[in-house]
Amino acid sequence: MTMRERVAQYATVRLTTDLSALTPNERRMLPLLIEAARQMDRIFWLEAYGEPEPLLASLRDPDTRRFVEINYGPWDRLADNAPFVEGFGPKPPGANFYPHDLTKAEFEQFIKEHPDQAAAFKSQYSVIRRDAKAHLTALDYHEQFAEPVRLAVAALRQAAALAEDSGLRRYLELRADALLTDDYRASDLAWLEMKDNTIDCVIGPIETYEDQLFGYKAAHEAYVLVKDKAWSARLAKYAALLPGLQRGLPVPEAYKRESPGTGSDLNAYDVVYYAGDCNAGSKTIAINLPNDEEIQLRKGARRLQLKNAMRAKFDKILVPIADLLIAPEQRRHVTFDAFFGDTMFHEVAHGLGIKQTINGRGTVREALRDLAGTIEEGKADILGLYMIGKLLESGDLKDGSIEDYYVTFLAGIFRSVRFGAASAHGRANMLRFNYFAEAGAFSRDRDGRYRVNVDPMRKAVESLSAKILTLQGDGDYDGAAAWMRAQGELPRQLAADLGRVSDAAIPVDIVFEQGSLD
Ligand code: ZN
Repeated sequence: MTMRERVAQYATVRLTTDLSALTPNERRMLPLLIEAARQMDRIFWLEAYGEPEPLLASLRDPDTRRFVEINYGPWDRLADNAPFVEGFGPKPPGANFYPHDLTKAEFEQFIKEHPDQAAAFKSQYSVIRRDAKAHLTALDYHEQFAEPVRLAVAALRQAAALAEDSGLRRYLELRADALLTDDYRASDLAWLEMKDNTIDCVIGPIETYEDQLFGYKAAHEAYVLVKDKAWSARLAKYAALLPGLQRGLPVPEAYKRESPGTGSDLNAYDVVYYAGDCNAGSKTIAINLPNDEEIQLRKGARRLQLKNAMRAKFDKILVPIADLLIAPEQRRHVTFDAFFGDTMFHEVAHGLGIKQTINGRGTVREALRDLAGTIEEGKADILGLYMIGKLLESGDLKDGSIEDYYVTFLAGIFRSVRFGAASAHGRANMLRFNYFAEAGAFSRDRDGRYRVNVDPMRKAVESLSAKILTLQGDGDYDGAAAWMRAQGELPRQLAADLGRVSDAAIPVDIVFEQGSLD
């Protein structure tokens, strides 16, 4: 692939939202929050790679420079971090959180010899360095990144002073304090307690994927967000219908005895700024936080659906795939509203079904072990579609037709299986594609385009829902494993059809033009 082709894998999208819904103070807060977010970007560069300026200045080719910016370093995140700038070897597994020559063995030996320093070394919020004598030391983030932290704190405090919502003001103040101490718990709790704020800002060291050496170190990131109040109200309404839907599930009574609940607060947002970890490589379109399990158990979690980013992926990726793979007369059923609906109902549908097995095998999660994630994601996908069917029938859902949701769902499967069966989502999609194929829920035309057959699809949605709910209720690990062996593979025909998608050079992800709001 040429450097220009690598850059073209990312479709450029301008991030914006309807600012007229905001008060004057809220509009004044946004640039301050963006300023704080930019400091997270600065810190993430230092965590992922190091000082960016010398590297960027050394590159004469604008495409290479752009690709370095997209990847926050000289390693291609869509290609297993393969280096793409001359002179660079493989990415250090510990990124720049640790000395590049540090091995796991040396780290563990150090901990054994200095047990009093174990907590500081394994902390999510410290970097490991060598001192002048090459001895290992741990430095807290607020010391290591003192200058960008100071600037972020100042911007957050200015934004807090403008906040009209008392919950938001409290959160922003506590978050600023947290950046100065690297103790995030109080601010996480304050974030969970916010209910009526329109503006939101997820900021700080959060996910640990960038640390591939140990998975200890959290990377800095930020999202600046504006709540979509109309959609959020609709989601609350659908969540309230869960008990009735649970009673109607197509399984025997024992498999639907628990009372359903999402266990988390679900809302829709537009993102106006992505920074740091979440802006590197692939872009997230949903947030589920906090990660702190103790807080989750006590207080639950919040799920944020990022509507404008979803819209961007729909326009730039799903629509061109549908143009290639969906039968022409069904193409008009591929709509953003249906795509958004399929995604939102997936989230709500996590609340349906049961968490405990019905035969004393403990929780579904314990019983299904490594397969639990794939089965649970598959459940949410299919029950989301099941819910949509029921709510359209009852008139609680008024937009779109069942054809829209089914055809858009099928196009969505093509988008998801493109990246193989490695992730829980990818594998769940593969299982479903093969199940639908056998049930005649869709057929393939001779020209290699696919069409949904509505009645068989409706039946397949019911029977697949029943199959998954039964596997979960029985805690049937062997049954789940056998199913994955039999139907978890990409069929050769589909692989060939997806080859047409690759040949058409349809983007695989998006990159943002952001920061100017008008
Ligand atoms: Zn899910």
